[in-house]
Amino acid sequence: MEKLIPFINDLHDILSQAGLSSELNLPSIVVIGSQSVGKSSLLESIVGREFLPRGKGIVTRRPIEIQLHQVLDAEQGWFEFMDKRGEKIFESEDIRKLIETETDKIAGKNKGISPVPIKVKYFSKDILDLQLIDLPGITKNPVGDQPQDIEQKVLDIVMPFIKNQNSLILAVSKASDDLATSDGLKLARSVDPNGLRTIGVITQLDLMDEGADILNDLLNQTYPLQLGYVGVIMRGQKDIQKNKTIIEQIKDEKTFFEKHKIYKKYSEKMGVNFLVKTLNMNFIQHIKKALPIIRETIISLVQVKEYDLKQYGDYDNLETKENKNLLVLTLISKFSNSYKDMLEGRCLDITSKELIGGSRIIYVFNDNFRKTIQKMNPFDILSDDEIRTAIKNANGIRPSLFVPEGAFELLVRQQISRLRMPSIECSHIVFEELRRVINQISIPEIERFDTLANRISEVIENLLNKCLRQTEEIISNLIDIELGYINTSHPDFVSGMDMVNKDEQRSSQQQVQLQKEKSPLQSENESNKFFNFWPFKNNKQTELYDSKLDNLNKKRKSNINNEKQQKLQQIEESQILQQQIVINKIVSVNQQYFVNDPKRQLPQVPNTIKITDRPSKREQTEMDMIKDLLISYFNLVKKNICDSVPKTIITFLVNQSRNFCERELIGLLYKQELVDELLQENQFIQKSRAEAKQTLISLRTCLNLLNDLDSKF
Ligand code: GDP
Ligand code: MG
Repeated sequence: MEKLIPFINDLHDILSQAGLSSELNLPSIVVIGSQSVGKSSLLESIVGREFLPRGKGIVTRRPIEIQLHQVLDAEQGWFEFMDKRGEKIFESEDIRKLIETETDKIAGKNKGISPVPIKVKYFSKDILDLQLIDLPGITKNPVGDQPQDIEQKVLDIVMPFIKNQNSLILAVSKASDDLATSDGLKLARSVDPNGLRTIGVITQLDLMDEGADILNDLLNQTYPLQLGYVGVIMRGQKDIQKNKTIIEQIKDEKTFFEKHKIYKKYSEKMGVNFLVKTLNMNFIQHIKKALPIIRETIISLVQVKEYDLKQYGDYDNLETKENKNLLVLTLISKFSNSYKDMLEGRCLDITSKELIGGSRIIYVFNDNFRKTIQKMNPFDILSDDEIRTAIKNANGIRPSLFVPEGAFELLVRQQISRLRMPSIECSHIVFEELRRVINQISIPEIERFDTLANRISEVIENLLNKCLRQTEEIISNLIDIELGYINTSHPDFVSGMDMVNKDEQRSSQQQVQLQKEKSPLQSENESNKFFNFWPFKNNKQTELYDSKLDNLNKKRKSNINNEKQQKLQQIEESQILQQQIVINKIVSVNQQYFVNDPKRQLPQVPNTIKITDRPSKREQTEMDMIKDLLISYFNLVKKNICDSVPKTIITFLVNQSRNFCERELIGLLYKQELVDELLQENQFIQKSRAEAKQTLISLRTCLNLLNDLDSKF
């Protein structure tokens, strides 16, 4: 049983060296209470040596962990400080100075505090094994460099120690304190409400007024704790000044209790020595309770570290060139398989709450690309005036007879061109998604080799770039194909004649109203105006149009064929020409007379001519029709593009990069001359592996210690 405390001390050592003590919550005794209640004095009394810094106000400014090791054959007690194992420090003065310097080093010189513990060991034949932690006292008023919230800062240091369910709490109060308001007890209650692991210590019983006593408190009647209270008397300031030793004080303490009118009945359960025995006994019990959890924690830590070590890879196996080559090959195929899995949705180990890999690409197509294209409307960028201008410009000097085909093609091409940018952008977004997938691939065996990981990224980045360029080109071609031939006979396209019919229906309703007002000739002209439009889909309409066209041609032909008339016409024309020459002469003669007549002068032609007047009825009809045709044809192209662009991206970017990934990597990286360079191990990994190995050794040592301990019971 008595081996338990040294065992725990060993665990503390082994695990703190491996940086694991905080993960294990090892048992320890934590001393808490207000400032100047006597915490440090108590520790010194327990150790039997004056080794702690002393002074007014806040002196203990970092947690001080003190391990007591009983060494039965030690003639003289000695300290060991922090990591200087084996270096014996015999003088209390020396260890105190070390503690002071170490405190200043981390917490500053002026009353600052720090949670980083200072570790001290004490070896002696006159002590019982213990592990104690002295903590800064609870204080409410900041002094020196202390921040305004000093109380909170101290609590931040104290709480983790006392929250540890495996710690025993030594709650120190002064005899003059009311137990109900004692800071130490209040804090202890907050983490141990049933008082199962708190021992109450009441100091300065010697300073009470004569006749006054706190027997009720000491007998656990005021504020009961499972482990009870112990009253102690330590050296006051005056005693210290008089160089009274701790041993002398312990003797005096004994006398005080034995002679005290009220306490003498209980004198055996009073004083520092009794407290040490109580602590030792309770601590052993406490450790016994904690052992199963400690064992479980160590076992799970071993598993974690073994896993870590596996992730860092076994470098010792990489002695031969063949092994190295094989490793490069294995890692390359692991990488390309991961890439495939991510794209095809087989990355089951990632429990992600968001879309990943291939599913993000489909989102890009459906929610990003398709929706944007569908929302595009020809009239986002095209005003009525622009359409009218386009119609007029396309007609040139000839007034249009038919549907202004030139204007339609010009405008529809303009619209199709608008699809080029979003389509190419879509391929760029998918490219970024693929890079994201690559970045998400995490293979620790690859990450341990910096150069290999970098070269893989480089090769894949180049491959993706190559695929992107090809994809861009094909997408651009898709748009060029749409631009290259405006297929107005596409079955999904609402042609000009459909528009005519639609418009005729619309106007026939108006006609009924207008008929009475208009002459029959006018009304016929109105209804026939649409025959001038292209293209015709309806056969009847086409025939009608053709017959009209034939008549016109026949008329012209018959005119030309009639020679007599031709001659007559020639004579007539020559007469007109002569008349014209005469008129011109008159004009030139008379010109000087008209120069100064402003009413006869034509206005100057402006540099830019814009349409400003309201469209005529005919213009309006032409415009409406062009608009309908534009929408119809643009929708048709949009549908094609929404289908063909994602197909192109999947085929030439996603699938190509996936299919060529492994081949490209092997081609560029699997080379005899590269292997040593590629398998240069990352220094951080080397360090982590060494640490993991060391930690594993420490943990296994702890497990062995535990097993040894079991075999002794
Ligand atoms: P801490 O701030 O809680 O660590 O308190 P210290 O151990 O530094 O003690 C504060 C002061 O109280 C010191 O001057 C001690 O000598 C004095 N002191 C502590 N305990 C007793 C005691 O039981 N009796 C008397 N008379 N003085 C004590
Ligand atoms: Mg102190």
